[in-house]
Amino acid sequence: MMPIRLESGFIFDLRYIPFIIVALFGGYKSVLPLYLLLNIMRVYVGGEGTLQSFLFSTGVLIVVPMFSKRFMRLESKGRLITATFFSFLTMGCYLITLACIIKDLDHDFWMLVVNALGTHTLVMLIIMILIEKIITNIKGRDQILYSENLNVASELAASVSHEIRNPLTVTNGFLQLLAKSKTITEKEKRYINLSLLELKRAEKIVSDYLSFAKPQSENMIYSNMREEIDYTREIIMPYALLHNVDVRLTFNNTLKAHYDRNQITQCLINLYKNGIEAMTEKGGGTLLIDISEKKQNIRVRIEDTGIGMTSEEISNLYKPRYSTKEEGTGLGMLMVYSTMNKVKGNIEVHSEKGKGTTFLLTIPATTEETVKMNKQ
Ligand code: ADP
Ligand code: MG
Repeated sequence: MMPIRLESGFIFDLRYIPFIIVALFGGYKSVLPLYLLLNIMRVYVGGEGTLQSFLFSTGVLIVVPMFSKRFMRLESKGRLITATFFSFLTMGCYLITLACIIKDLDHDFWMLVVNALGTHTLVMLIIMILIEKIITNIKGRDQILYSENLNVASELAASVSHEIRNPLTVTNGFLQLLAKSKTITEKEKRYINLSLLELKRAEKIVSDYLSFAKPQSENMIYSNMREEIDYTREIIMPYALLHNVDVRLTFNNTLKAHYDRNQITQCLINLYKNGIEAMTEKGGGTLLIDISEKKQNIRVRIEDTGIGMTSEEISNLYKPRYSTKEEGTGLGMLMVYSTMNKVKGNIEVHSEKGKGTTFLLTIPATTEETVKMNKQ
């Protein structure tokens, strides 16, 4: 509202900085009200160049949000650089337009160029650093809260399951003995068999919950995941064939980490199964499994060409018992998050409704020394 006025009547201010930030983070929908406000304010401030400003802001409105989707896929540093670059570019274009109108490019004009470009780049850089800092803080806080909740829930689930297992085994044994008795009728025998089946099901649910327990020391290994990847692929093959899914595997990893073999195996199977199930509706597809290394991290990418998820569905993934399937338990993803939490790994989910989903697991590699140190 208090711009710098030039002799030619043109004005300078920082209005394009919030405009670009909103355009990049929010896309067309969010930037439209800002566009209206910006032009209303421009008319209110008055002076020459109102029409040019209107045309220019319309240009920015059309071009910048086009990059919004790609922008949001970038990492923090990438976003910082892109936004600063856009600010520089926008100001650059503005100055070029101005140069065409002024024609008399004297010393003052060049001073203006240096000042305007410098201010816009610097201010954008500072604001973006603050925004990214806030985003990192929020994410970090959510992560801590979430992993605490998860720890409590999984420990409780595991200990209760463990306690229930014994009575189940005893009941199972007595029922089997009873089934062999010669004094019972056919009908009674059928009841006993039904009870045994139900017991078996209870047993299965209990062992699913048990997989949330602390890593068992006898299962802990130090390896590059090759064996687990090969093993889980074998296991999932018949299921994939049945659902018309083509499984492709690439393995390029030499880094090693310390993990519970059973839990990692279960975690991979859960992700493969979800991928395959997401493609069933489409009548098949491709499941891509890619293991690579990057900067001391093991990266597992699991990509399907299934039904995909909206961002709201993605945010539900880590909630216990969240499932969109008729017979789903909603425990699969919880197990995945819990396991990744234990190996201090990270999960990224990228998904597009109707196109498919990518899960990217990042597991920090450990050296043999740290393993020994942890044991001591
Ligand atoms: P369940 O498979 O028993 O439903 P999960 O915890 O494994 O439970 O998954 C929870 C929900 O997350 C699923 O019901 C599904 O809606 C969604 N989901 C998980 N993985 C995918 C995927 N690869 N593609 C689409 N949706 C998925
Ligand atoms: Mg599942």
